Amino acid sequence: MSDYQKLADFLFPNITKTPEDYENLYPQRTLPDGARVSRFSPSPTGYLHFGGLYAATAAKLNAVSTNGIFYLRIEDTDKKREVADGVFAIVDGLNYFGITADEGVCSENEEKGNYGPYTQSKRVEIYQTFAKALVAQGLAYPCFCSETALNEIRTAQEKEDIKGYYGKYAKCRNLSFEEIKTNIDNGMAWTLRLKSPGDTAKKIIFDDMIKGKIEMPENVIDVVLLKADGVPTYHFAHAVDDHLMRTTHVIRGDEWIASVPLHIQLFKVLGFKPVKYAHIAPIMKEDEGGKRKLSKRKDPEAAVSYYVEQGFPKESVSEYIFTILNSNFEDWRRANKDADLSAFPFNLKKMSVSGALFDMAKLCDVSKNVISTMKAEKVFALSYEWAKMYCPQLAELYAKDTDRATAILNIDRENKKPRKDIAKWSDIPDYISYMYDDTFVPCYTLCGNATPALAVKVIEKYIDTVNLSDDKDTWFARIKDMCEPLGCTANVKEFKQNPENFKGHVGDVSTIIRVALTGRTNTPDLYSITALLGQETVIARLNAALKHYKEEL
Ligand code: GLU
Repeated sequence: MSDYQKLADFLFPNITKTPEDYENLYPQRTLPDGARVSRFSPSPTGYLHFGGLYAATAAKLNAVSTNGIFYLRIEDTDKKREVADGVFAIVDGLNYFGITADEGVCSENEEKGNYGPYTQSKRVEIYQTFAKALVAQGLAYPCFCSETALNEIRTAQEKEDIKGYYGKYAKCRNLSFEEIKTNIDNGMAWTLRLKSPGDTAKKIIFDDMIKGKIEMPENVIDVVLLKADGVPTYHFAHAVDDHLMRTTHVIRGDEWIASVPLHIQLFKVLGFKPVKYAHIAPIMKEDEGGKRKLSKRKDPEAAVSYYVEQGFPKESVSEYIFTILNSNFEDWRRANKDADLSAFPFNLKKMSVSGALFDMAKLCDVSKNVISTMKAEKVFALSYEWAKMYCPQLAELYAKDTDRATAILNIDRENKKPRKDIAKWSDIPDYISYMYDDTFVPCYTLCGNATPALAVKVIEKYIDTVNLSDDKDTWFARIKDMCEPLGCTANVKEFKQNPENFKGHVGDVSTIIRVALTGRTNTPDLYSITALLGQETVIARLNAALKHYKEEL
Protein backbone atom coordinates (compact mmCIF):
# COMPACT_ATOMS: atom_id res chain seq x y z
CA MET A 1 0.00 0.00 0.00
CA SER A 2 1.38 3.43 -0.91
CA ASP A 3 2.05 5.94 1.84
CA TYR A 4 -0.60 8.17 0.31
CA GLN A 5 -3.22 5.44 0.49
CA LYS A 6 -2.15 4.72 4.07
CA LEU A 7 -2.54 8.40 4.90
CA ALA A 8 -5.96 8.53 3.24
CA ASP A 9 -7.21 5.58 5.28
CA PHE A 10 -5.77 7.08 8.42
CA LEU A 11 -7.35 10.49 7.88
CA PHE A 12 -10.73 9.16 6.76
CA PRO A 13 -11.28 5.82 8.51
CA ASN A 14 -15.06 6.08 8.23
CA ILE A 15 -15.18 6.81 4.53
CA THR A 16 -15.83 3.53 2.77
CA LYS A 17 -17.36 4.73 -0.50
CA THR A 18 -15.29 5.71 -3.52
CA PRO A 19 -15.75 8.48 -6.09
CA GLU A 20 -16.89 5.78 -8.56
CA ASP A 21 -19.80 4.94 -6.27
CA TYR A 22 -21.01 8.52 -6.58
CA GLU A 23 -20.31 8.65 -10.31
CA ASN A 24 -22.63 5.68 -10.63
CA LEU A 25 -25.22 7.09 -8.26
CA TYR A 26 -25.40 10.36 -10.21
CA PRO A 27 -25.08 9.33 -13.85
CA GLN A 28 -24.77 11.71 -16.79
CA ARG A 29 -28.16 13.24 -17.44
CA THR A 30 -30.03 12.17 -20.53
CA LEU A 31 -31.16 15.46 -21.98
CA PRO A 32 -31.76 16.74 -25.52
CA ASP A 33 -28.73 18.02 -27.45
CA GLY A 34 -27.67 21.46 -26.34
CA ALA A 35 -29.71 21.29 -23.12
CA ARG A 36 -28.03 23.18 -20.30
CA VAL A 37 -28.07 22.45 -16.61
CA SER A 38 -27.69 25.47 -14.36
CA ARG A 39 -28.40 26.28 -10.80
CA PHE A 40 -28.90 28.98 -8.25
CA SER A 41 -26.95 28.19 -5.12
CA PRO A 42 -27.36 30.81 -2.45
CA SER A 43 -26.10 30.72 1.09
CA PRO A 44 -28.92 31.21 3.60
CA THR A 45 -27.19 34.15 5.22
CA GLY A 46 -30.01 36.66 5.03
CA TYR A 47 -32.83 37.77 2.81
CA LEU A 48 -33.02 37.25 -0.92
CA HIS A 49 -31.19 40.10 -2.64
CA PHE A 50 -32.49 41.64 -5.86
CA GLY A 51 -29.17 40.65 -7.45
CA GLY A 52 -29.90 37.07 -6.35
CA LEU A 53 -33.31 37.09 -8.00
CA TYR A 54 -31.69 38.55 -11.11
CA ALA A 55 -28.99 35.83 -11.17
CA ALA A 56 -31.53 33.10 -10.44
CA THR A 57 -33.69 34.33 -13.33
CA ALA A 58 -30.68 34.24 -15.65
CA ALA A 59 -29.81 30.71 -14.52
CA LYS A 60 -33.38 29.52 -14.93
CA LEU A 61 -33.73 31.05 -18.40
CA ASN A 62 -30.42 29.55 -19.43
CA ALA A 63 -31.86 26.14 -18.62
CA VAL A 64 -35.44 26.68 -19.81
CA SER A 65 -34.44 28.17 -23.16
CA THR A 66 -32.43 25.02 -23.95
CA ASN A 67 -34.91 22.48 -22.51
CA GLY A 68 -32.44 21.84 -19.74
CA ILE A 69 -32.67 21.66 -15.96
CA PHE A 70 -32.63 24.42 -13.39
CA TYR A 71 -32.07 23.45 -9.79
CA LEU A 72 -31.73 25.12 -6.42
CA ARG A 73 -28.87 24.16 -4.13
CA ILE A 74 -28.46 25.55 -0.64
CA GLU A 75 -24.86 26.30 0.31
CA ASP A 76 -25.02 26.18 4.07
CA THR A 77 -21.51 25.14 5.00
CA ASP A 78 -20.79 28.37 6.83
CA LYS A 79 -22.94 27.87 9.91
CA LYS A 80 -21.59 31.06 11.50
CA ARG A 81 -23.14 33.25 8.83
CA GLU A 82 -26.42 31.38 8.61
CA VAL A 83 -29.61 33.10 9.75
CA ALA A 84 -32.82 31.54 11.01
CA ASP A 85 -35.41 31.09 8.24
CA GLY A 86 -32.74 31.90 5.66
CA VAL A 87 -33.75 28.99 3.42
CA PHE A 88 -37.43 29.87 3.70
CA ALA A 89 -36.74 33.50 2.76
CA ILE A 90 -34.92 32.38 -0.37
CA VAL A 91 -37.30 29.68 -1.54
CA ASP A 92 -40.35 31.78 -0.76
CA GLY A 93 -38.88 34.85 -2.50
CA LEU A 94 -37.96 32.87 -5.61
CA ASN A 95 -41.33 31.13 -5.78
CA TYR A 96 -43.20 34.41 -5.38
CA PHE A 97 -41.49 35.70 -8.51
CA GLY A 98 -42.07 32.48 -10.43
CA ILE A 99 -38.49 31.21 -10.23
CA THR A 100 -39.39 27.65 -9.42
CA ALA A 101 -36.81 24.93 -9.79
CA ASP A 102 -37.05 21.60 -11.60
CA GLU A 103 -34.95 20.01 -8.88
CA GLY A 104 -33.43 20.80 -5.57
CA VAL A 105 -34.60 22.42 -2.40
CA CYS A 106 -38.29 23.28 -2.60
CA SER A 107 -38.98 24.28 0.99
CA GLU A 108 -37.27 24.36 4.36
CA ASN A 109 -37.20 20.56 4.68
CA GLU A 110 -38.12 19.31 1.27
CA GLU A 111 -36.08 18.42 -1.80
CA LYS A 112 -36.88 16.78 -5.13
CA GLY A 113 -34.70 15.28 -7.86
CA ASN A 114 -32.23 12.43 -8.34
CA TYR A 115 -29.02 14.36 -7.81
CA GLY A 116 -29.45 15.29 -4.17
CA PRO A 117 -29.13 15.96 -1.39
CA TYR A 118 -29.13 19.54 -2.63
CA THR A 119 -28.19 21.00 0.74
CA GLN A 120 -24.45 21.05 1.27
CA SER A 121 -24.56 20.28 4.98
CA LYS A 122 -26.12 16.92 4.05
CA ARG A 123 -23.30 16.06 1.66
CA VAL A 124 -20.32 15.93 3.99
CA GLU A 125 -19.69 12.25 3.37
CA ILE A 126 -19.59 12.89 -0.37
CA TYR A 127 -16.99 15.67 -0.03
CA GLN A 128 -14.89 13.55 2.27
CA THR A 129 -14.97 10.66 -0.19
CA PHE A 130 -13.50 12.88 -2.90
CA ALA A 131 -11.07 14.41 -0.41
CA LYS A 132 -9.90 10.96 0.60
CA ALA A 133 -9.31 10.04 -3.04
CA LEU A 134 -7.19 13.17 -3.50
CA VAL A 135 -5.09 12.27 -0.46
CA ALA A 136 -4.66 8.74 -1.81
CA GLN A 137 -3.22 10.24 -5.01
CA GLY A 138 -0.89 12.60 -3.18
CA LEU A 139 -2.96 15.61 -4.30
CA ALA A 140 -4.07 16.79 -0.87
CA TYR A 141 -2.56 16.80 2.61
CA PRO A 142 -3.43 17.69 6.18
CA CYS A 143 -2.21 21.01 7.53
CA PHE A 144 -1.71 21.67 11.23
CA CYS A 145 -0.85 25.37 11.05
CA SER A 146 -2.66 27.29 13.75
CA GLU A 147 -4.36 30.67 13.19
CA THR A 148 -1.27 32.30 14.75
CA ALA A 149 1.08 30.47 12.40
CA LEU A 150 -1.07 31.53 9.41
CA ASN A 151 -1.02 35.13 10.60
CA GLU A 152 2.75 34.98 10.81
CA ILE A 153 2.84 33.82 7.20
CA ARG A 154 0.62 36.75 6.24
CA THR A 155 2.96 39.21 7.93
CA ALA A 156 6.02 37.62 6.33
CA GLN A 157 4.35 37.89 2.92
CA GLU A 158 3.75 41.62 2.94
CA LYS A 159 6.18 42.14 0.09
CA GLU A 160 5.30 39.03 -1.88
CA ASP A 161 3.26 39.33 -5.08
CA ILE A 162 1.50 36.09 -4.37
CA LYS A 163 -0.02 35.72 -0.95
CA GLY A 164 -1.19 32.50 0.62
CA TYR A 165 -0.09 29.02 1.56
CA TYR A 166 2.39 27.90 -1.11
CA GLY A 167 6.08 27.19 -1.77
CA LYS A 168 8.28 27.73 1.23
CA TYR A 169 5.28 29.00 3.22
CA ALA A 170 3.45 25.70 2.85
CA LYS A 171 5.01 24.24 5.96
CA CYS A 172 2.87 21.10 6.15
CA ARG A 173 3.15 20.15 2.48
CA ASN A 174 5.84 17.55 2.96
CA LEU A 175 5.17 16.12 6.41
CA SER A 176 5.82 12.39 6.64
CA PHE A 177 3.11 9.92 7.55
CA GLU A 178 4.71 9.50 10.98
CA GLU A 179 4.76 13.24 11.65
CA ILE A 180 1.13 13.51 10.65
CA LYS A 181 0.16 10.53 12.77
CA THR A 182 1.96 11.92 15.83
CA ASN A 183 0.24 15.29 15.44
CA ILE A 184 -3.18 13.72 15.10
CA ASP A 185 -2.58 11.27 17.95
CA ASN A 186 -1.67 14.33 20.02
CA GLY A 187 -5.07 15.78 19.25
CA MET A 188 -3.91 18.56 16.92
CA ALA A 189 -6.62 20.01 14.71
CA TRP A 190 -6.06 19.82 10.95
CA THR A 191 -7.49 21.13 7.75
CA LEU A 192 -7.09 19.41 4.41
CA ARG A 193 -5.22 21.36 1.73
CA LEU A 194 -4.89 20.91 -1.99
CA LYS A 195 -1.33 20.16 -3.09
CA SER A 196 -1.56 22.62 -5.94
CA PRO A 197 0.16 21.48 -9.13
CA GLY A 198 0.12 25.11 -10.39
CA ASP A 199 3.07 26.96 -11.85
CA THR A 200 3.48 30.72 -11.37
CA ALA A 201 4.91 31.05 -14.86
CA LYS A 202 1.85 29.54 -16.52
CA LYS A 203 -1.44 31.13 -17.41
CA ILE A 204 -4.91 29.76 -17.85
CA ILE A 205 -7.29 31.13 -20.45
CA PHE A 206 -11.00 30.60 -20.20
CA ASP A 207 -14.01 31.89 -22.05
CA ASP A 208 -16.51 33.47 -19.70
CA MET A 209 -19.94 33.46 -21.35
CA ILE A 210 -20.64 37.00 -20.20
CA LYS A 211 -17.23 38.61 -19.85
CA GLY A 212 -15.48 36.95 -22.78
CA LYS A 213 -11.91 35.61 -22.89
CA ILE A 214 -10.03 35.94 -19.61
CA GLU A 215 -6.39 35.17 -18.99
CA MET A 216 -5.08 34.69 -15.44
CA PRO A 217 -2.05 33.12 -13.78
CA GLU A 218 -2.47 29.52 -12.70
CA ASN A 219 -3.37 28.88 -9.09
CA VAL A 220 -0.36 27.94 -6.96
CA ILE A 221 -1.96 28.23 -3.54
CA ASP A 222 -2.55 25.11 -1.48
CA VAL A 223 -6.06 26.18 -0.57
CA VAL A 224 -8.08 24.59 2.19
CA LEU A 225 -10.48 21.96 0.87
CA LEU A 226 -11.89 20.75 4.18
CA LYS A 227 -12.02 22.89 7.27
CA ALA A 228 -11.02 21.54 10.70
CA ASP A 229 -14.58 20.30 11.29
CA GLY A 230 -14.45 18.27 8.07
CA VAL A 231 -16.83 20.61 6.25
CA PRO A 232 -15.71 21.76 2.79
CA THR A 233 -14.83 25.26 1.68
CA TYR A 234 -16.90 26.88 -1.06
CA HIS A 235 -14.24 26.01 -3.65
CA PHE A 236 -14.16 22.29 -2.99
CA ALA A 237 -17.92 21.97 -2.59
CA HIS A 238 -18.43 23.89 -5.86
CA ALA A 239 -16.26 21.43 -7.81
CA VAL A 240 -17.76 18.29 -6.28
CA ASP A 241 -21.37 19.45 -6.39
CA ASP A 242 -21.42 20.98 -9.83
CA HIS A 243 -19.75 17.87 -11.18
CA LEU A 244 -22.00 15.34 -9.46
CA MET A 245 -25.17 17.33 -10.11
CA ARG A 246 -24.05 17.42 -13.73
CA THR A 247 -24.15 21.18 -14.03
CA THR A 248 -23.09 22.45 -17.44
CA HIS A 249 -23.22 26.20 -16.76
CA VAL A 250 -22.22 27.90 -13.55
CA ILE A 251 -23.86 31.30 -13.47
CA ARG A 252 -22.78 33.25 -10.42
CA GLY A 253 -21.62 36.61 -9.10
CA ASP A 254 -18.37 37.97 -10.47
CA GLU A 255 -16.83 38.12 -7.01
CA TRP A 256 -15.87 34.52 -7.85
CA ILE A 257 -14.01 35.33 -11.02
CA ALA A 258 -10.65 35.57 -9.26
CA SER A 259 -11.16 31.99 -8.05
CA VAL A 260 -11.69 30.51 -11.50
CA PRO A 261 -8.03 29.41 -11.92
CA LEU A 262 -8.38 27.49 -8.66
CA HIS A 263 -11.72 26.04 -9.68
CA ILE A 264 -10.45 24.88 -13.05
CA GLN A 265 -7.48 23.33 -11.29
CA LEU A 266 -9.77 21.55 -8.84
CA PHE A 267 -11.87 20.13 -11.67
CA LYS A 268 -8.65 18.87 -13.26
CA VAL A 269 -7.15 17.21 -10.19
CA LEU A 270 -10.50 15.62 -9.40
CA GLY A 271 -10.68 14.30 -12.96
CA PHE A 272 -13.88 16.21 -13.74
CA LYS A 273 -14.89 17.79 -17.03
CA PRO A 274 -14.84 21.56 -16.42
CA VAL A 275 -18.10 23.48 -16.46
CA LYS A 276 -18.74 26.64 -18.43
CA TYR A 277 -18.75 29.85 -16.42
CA ALA A 278 -20.85 32.98 -16.74
CA HIS A 279 -20.00 35.65 -14.19
CA ILE A 280 -22.61 38.27 -13.48
CA ALA A 281 -21.54 41.77 -12.52
CA PRO A 282 -23.36 43.25 -9.51
CA ILE A 283 -26.47 45.33 -10.02
CA MET A 284 -25.53 49.01 -9.98
CA LYS A 285 -27.42 52.10 -8.93
CA GLU A 286 -27.03 55.77 -9.83
CA ASP A 287 -26.15 57.74 -6.72
CA GLU A 288 -25.07 61.34 -6.40
CA GLY A 289 -23.89 61.49 -9.98
CA GLY A 290 -21.90 58.26 -9.83
CA LYS A 291 -22.65 54.57 -10.00
CA ARG A 292 -22.32 52.19 -7.09
CA LYS A 293 -23.41 48.68 -6.22
CA LEU A 294 -26.99 48.22 -5.06
CA SER A 295 -26.33 47.81 -1.38
CA LYS A 296 -28.02 45.70 1.25
CA ARG A 297 -27.19 48.31 3.83
CA LYS A 298 -28.18 51.50 2.02
CA ASP A 299 -30.99 50.52 -0.35
CA PRO A 300 -34.29 49.07 0.84
CA GLU A 301 -34.98 47.96 -2.73
CA ALA A 302 -31.99 45.59 -2.52
CA ALA A 303 -34.21 43.14 -0.62
CA VAL A 304 -36.69 41.25 -2.73
CA SER A 305 -39.21 41.46 0.12
CA TYR A 306 -39.36 45.22 -0.55
CA TYR A 307 -41.22 44.62 -3.83
CA VAL A 308 -43.69 42.33 -2.12
CA GLU A 309 -44.32 44.81 0.69
CA GLN A 310 -44.72 47.73 -1.72
CA GLY A 311 -47.10 45.66 -3.81
CA PHE A 312 -45.22 45.47 -7.10
CA PRO A 313 -46.97 42.61 -8.88
CA LYS A 314 -44.61 39.79 -9.69
CA GLU A 315 -45.39 40.22 -13.38
CA SER A 316 -43.94 43.76 -13.21
CA VAL A 317 -40.80 42.75 -11.37
CA SER A 318 -40.21 39.89 -13.81
CA GLU A 319 -40.79 42.16 -16.79
CA TYR A 320 -38.37 44.70 -15.35
CA ILE A 321 -35.74 42.07 -14.65
CA PHE A 322 -35.92 41.04 -18.30
CA THR A 323 -35.32 44.65 -19.40
CA ILE A 324 -32.03 44.70 -17.51
CA LEU A 325 -31.16 41.07 -18.18
CA ASN A 326 -30.75 41.30 -21.94
CA SER A 327 -30.07 44.49 -23.89
CA ASN A 328 -32.40 43.48 -26.74
CA PHE A 329 -35.41 42.70 -24.55
CA GLU A 330 -37.19 46.01 -25.03
CA ASP A 331 -37.01 45.74 -28.83
CA TRP A 332 -38.36 42.23 -28.56
CA ARG A 333 -41.17 43.42 -26.30
CA ARG A 334 -42.18 46.16 -28.77
CA ALA A 335 -42.41 43.54 -31.50
CA ASN A 336 -44.16 40.98 -29.25
CA LYS A 337 -46.49 43.04 -27.12
CA ASP A 338 -48.63 40.26 -25.73
CA ALA A 339 -46.11 37.43 -25.74
CA ASP A 340 -45.33 35.53 -22.57
CA LEU A 341 -41.91 36.26 -21.12
CA SER A 342 -40.98 32.61 -21.54
CA ALA A 343 -40.99 33.14 -25.31
CA PHE A 344 -38.10 35.62 -25.10
CA PRO A 345 -34.90 34.15 -26.58
CA PHE A 346 -32.66 34.75 -23.59
CA ASN A 347 -28.94 34.83 -24.26
CA LEU A 348 -26.25 34.84 -21.56
CA LYS A 349 -23.96 36.65 -23.98
CA LYS A 350 -26.26 39.66 -24.03
CA MET A 351 -25.92 40.30 -20.30
CA SER A 352 -24.18 43.41 -19.09
CA VAL A 353 -20.44 43.01 -18.59
CA SER A 354 -20.10 45.96 -16.25
CA GLY A 355 -23.30 45.60 -14.25
CA ALA A 356 -26.95 46.24 -15.05
CA LEU A 357 -28.26 49.54 -13.74
CA PHE A 358 -31.19 49.40 -11.35
CA ASP A 359 -33.57 52.29 -11.92
CA MET A 360 -36.63 52.62 -9.70
CA ALA A 361 -38.32 55.11 -12.07
CA LYS A 362 -37.95 52.64 -14.91
CA LEU A 363 -39.31 49.80 -12.78
CA CYS A 364 -42.34 51.99 -11.99
CA ASP A 365 -42.87 52.77 -15.68
CA VAL A 366 -42.62 49.11 -16.61
CA SER A 367 -45.00 48.22 -13.81
CA LYS A 368 -47.53 50.92 -14.80
CA ASN A 369 -47.56 49.42 -18.26
CA VAL A 370 -48.00 45.90 -16.97
CA ILE A 371 -50.79 46.90 -14.58
CA SER A 372 -52.53 48.97 -17.27
CA THR A 373 -53.01 45.78 -19.30
CA MET A 374 -54.56 43.84 -16.44
CA LYS A 375 -58.32 43.44 -16.15
CA ALA A 376 -59.94 45.32 -13.27
CA GLU A 377 -60.87 42.02 -11.60
CA LYS A 378 -57.22 41.03 -11.51
CA VAL A 379 -56.08 44.41 -10.22
CA PHE A 380 -58.74 44.18 -7.55
CA ALA A 381 -57.93 40.60 -6.54
CA LEU A 382 -54.16 41.13 -6.35
CA SER A 383 -54.34 44.45 -4.58
CA TYR A 384 -56.96 43.13 -2.13
CA GLU A 385 -54.68 40.23 -1.27
CA TRP A 386 -51.80 42.67 -0.79
CA ALA A 387 -53.92 45.06 1.26
CA LYS A 388 -55.04 42.37 3.67
CA MET A 389 -51.39 41.88 4.54
CA TYR A 390 -49.87 45.33 4.21
CA CYS A 391 -52.63 47.95 4.15
CA PRO A 392 -55.66 47.16 6.33
CA GLN A 393 -57.19 50.59 5.58
CA LEU A 394 -57.43 49.77 1.89
CA ALA A 395 -58.75 46.29 2.64
CA GLU A 396 -61.47 47.90 4.74
CA LEU A 397 -62.47 50.31 1.99
CA TYR A 398 -62.61 47.48 -0.52
CA ALA A 399 -64.66 45.33 1.83
CA LYS A 400 -67.44 47.96 2.00
CA ASP A 401 -68.45 47.10 -1.55
CA THR A 402 -66.15 44.92 -3.61
CA ASP A 403 -68.12 45.42 -6.84
CA ARG A 404 -67.88 49.19 -6.52
CA ALA A 405 -64.12 48.90 -5.79
CA THR A 406 -63.66 46.80 -8.92
CA ALA A 407 -65.70 49.33 -10.90
CA ILE A 408 -63.47 52.15 -9.61
CA LEU A 409 -60.38 50.23 -10.73
CA ASN A 410 -62.03 49.65 -14.09
CA ILE A 411 -62.18 53.36 -14.94
CA ASP A 412 -60.14 53.99 -18.10
CA ARG A 413 -59.11 50.36 -18.30
CA GLU A 414 -59.63 47.81 -21.09
CA ASN A 415 -59.57 50.43 -23.81
CA LYS A 416 -57.05 51.30 -26.50
CA LYS A 417 -55.14 53.73 -24.33
CA PRO A 418 -55.54 52.62 -20.73
CA ARG A 419 -54.28 55.05 -18.10
CA LYS A 420 -51.03 54.23 -16.39
CA ASP A 421 -51.46 55.60 -12.89
CA ILE A 422 -50.68 52.58 -10.75
CA ALA A 423 -47.13 51.30 -10.43
CA LYS A 424 -47.70 49.26 -7.28
CA TRP A 425 -50.60 48.36 -5.02
CA SER A 426 -49.41 50.84 -2.41
CA ASP A 427 -50.26 53.61 -4.94
CA ILE A 428 -53.93 52.63 -4.84
CA PRO A 429 -55.01 54.18 -1.51
CA ASP A 430 -54.03 57.62 -2.78
CA TYR A 431 -55.24 56.93 -6.30
CA ILE A 432 -58.78 56.10 -5.21
CA SER A 433 -58.98 58.22 -2.05
CA TYR A 434 -61.51 60.70 -3.46
CA MET A 435 -63.86 57.87 -4.36
CA TYR A 436 -64.68 57.37 -0.67
CA ASP A 437 -65.99 60.02 1.71
CA ASP A 438 -63.82 58.50 4.46
CA THR A 439 -60.63 59.32 2.60
CA PHE A 440 -61.58 62.26 0.36
CA VAL A 441 -59.47 65.34 1.08
CA PRO A 442 -60.92 68.45 -0.59
CA CYS A 443 -58.48 70.78 -2.31
CA TYR A 444 -59.90 73.69 -4.26
CA THR A 445 -56.81 74.93 -6.06
CA LEU A 446 -57.64 75.64 -9.69
CA CYS A 447 -55.52 75.80 -12.82
CA GLY A 448 -55.72 77.05 -16.42
CA ASN A 449 -58.27 79.84 -16.91
CA ALA A 450 -60.45 78.68 -14.06
CA THR A 451 -60.91 81.30 -11.33
CA PRO A 452 -63.01 81.23 -8.17
CA ALA A 453 -65.47 83.64 -9.84
CA LEU A 454 -65.91 81.33 -12.81
CA ALA A 455 -66.03 78.33 -10.46
CA VAL A 456 -69.02 79.81 -8.59
CA LYS A 457 -70.93 80.24 -11.83
CA VAL A 458 -69.99 76.82 -13.22
CA ILE A 459 -70.90 74.97 -10.04
CA GLU A 460 -74.17 76.82 -9.54
CA LYS A 461 -75.17 75.85 -13.05
CA TYR A 462 -73.85 72.30 -12.84
CA ILE A 463 -75.74 71.55 -9.64
CA ASP A 464 -78.93 72.23 -11.59
CA THR A 465 -77.84 70.31 -14.66
CA VAL A 466 -76.16 67.18 -13.37
CA ASN A 467 -78.17 64.04 -13.91
CA LEU A 468 -76.65 60.75 -13.00
CA SER A 469 -78.79 58.76 -15.34
CA ASP A 470 -77.23 60.50 -18.36
CA ASP A 471 -75.06 58.46 -20.66
CA LYS A 472 -71.58 59.78 -21.33
CA ASP A 473 -72.43 61.70 -24.51
CA THR A 474 -75.45 63.39 -22.97
CA TRP A 475 -73.43 64.26 -19.87
CA PHE A 476 -70.70 65.88 -21.91
CA ALA A 477 -73.20 67.63 -24.17
CA ARG A 478 -74.70 69.23 -21.05
CA ILE A 479 -71.29 70.49 -19.95
CA LYS A 480 -70.66 71.92 -23.39
CA ASP A 481 -74.07 73.59 -23.36
CA MET A 482 -73.17 75.32 -20.11
CA CYS A 483 -70.20 77.06 -21.70
CA GLU A 484 -71.74 79.82 -23.78
CA PRO A 485 -74.11 81.29 -21.17
CA LEU A 486 -71.10 81.48 -18.82
CA GLY A 487 -68.99 83.44 -21.30
CA CYS A 488 -66.88 80.39 -22.15
CA THR A 489 -66.61 78.38 -25.34
CA ALA A 490 -67.08 74.67 -25.94
CA ASN A 491 -64.50 74.95 -28.71
CA VAL A 492 -60.91 74.94 -27.47
CA LYS A 493 -59.56 75.91 -30.88
CA GLU A 494 -61.79 78.95 -30.94
CA PHE A 495 -60.55 79.91 -27.50
CA LYS A 496 -56.93 79.63 -28.58
CA GLN A 497 -57.55 81.91 -31.55
CA ASN A 498 -59.20 84.65 -29.49
CA PRO A 499 -58.64 84.04 -25.80
CA GLU A 500 -59.57 87.60 -24.93
CA ASN A 501 -63.14 86.93 -26.06
CA PHE A 502 -63.77 84.24 -23.46
CA LYS A 503 -63.58 83.54 -19.73
CA GLY A 504 -62.38 80.03 -20.48
CA HIS A 505 -63.14 76.93 -22.52
CA VAL A 506 -64.83 73.60 -21.93
CA GLY A 507 -61.64 72.20 -20.42
CA ASP A 508 -61.71 74.88 -17.73
CA VAL A 509 -65.34 74.16 -17.01
CA SER A 510 -64.53 70.44 -16.63
CA THR A 511 -61.56 71.27 -14.42
CA ILE A 512 -63.78 73.19 -12.02
CA ILE A 513 -66.15 70.24 -11.75
CA ARG A 514 -63.26 67.81 -11.44
CA VAL A 515 -61.59 69.80 -8.67
CA ALA A 516 -64.86 70.12 -6.78
CA LEU A 517 -65.57 66.40 -6.97
CA THR A 518 -62.08 64.96 -6.52
CA GLY A 519 -59.79 67.67 -5.13
CA ARG A 520 -57.51 67.12 -8.15
CA THR A 521 -56.88 68.68 -11.53
CA ASN A 522 -55.92 65.41 -13.17
CA THR A 523 -58.00 62.25 -12.79
CA PRO A 524 -59.28 59.41 -14.92
CA ASP A 525 -62.55 59.80 -16.78
CA LEU A 526 -64.72 62.32 -14.95
CA TYR A 527 -67.97 60.88 -16.23
CA SER A 528 -67.21 57.48 -14.72
CA ILE A 529 -66.08 59.08 -11.48
CA THR A 530 -69.31 61.07 -11.24
CA ALA A 531 -71.40 58.00 -11.91
CA LEU A 532 -69.62 55.97 -9.24
CA LEU A 533 -69.72 58.74 -6.64
CA GLY A 534 -73.50 58.81 -6.85
CA GLN A 535 -76.01 61.68 -6.81
CA GLU A 536 -75.86 62.39 -3.10
CA THR A 537 -72.07 62.66 -2.85
CA VAL A 538 -71.81 64.64 -6.08
CA ILE A 539 -74.30 67.25 -4.87
CA ALA A 540 -72.72 67.44 -1.41
CA ARG A 541 -69.24 67.98 -2.81
CA LEU A 542 -70.45 70.57 -5.34
CA ASN A 543 -72.16 72.50 -2.53
CA ALA A 544 -69.05 72.40 -0.37
CA ALA A 545 -66.92 73.69 -3.25
CA LEU A 546 -69.45 76.40 -4.03
CA LYS A 547 -69.35 77.57 -0.43
CA HIS A 548 -65.55 77.63 -0.54
CA TYR A 549 -65.28 79.65 -3.75
CA LYS A 550 -67.95 82.10 -2.61
CA GLU A 551 -65.94 82.74 0.52
CA GLU A 552 -62.86 83.27 -1.62
CA LEU A 553 -64.47 86.01 -3.72
N1 GLU B 1 -23.11 30.29 -2.24
C1 GLU B 1 -22.39 31.11 -3.16
C2 GLU B 1 -22.77 32.56 -2.89
O1 GLU B 1 -23.83 32.78 -2.32
C3 GLU B 1 -22.80 30.73 -4.56
C4 GLU B 1 -21.84 30.99 -5.61
C5 GLU B 1 -22.20 30.10 -6.79
O2 GLU B 1 -23.27 30.29 -7.38
O3 GLU B 1 -21.42 29.20 -7.11
O4 GLU B 1 -22.04 33.44 -3.24
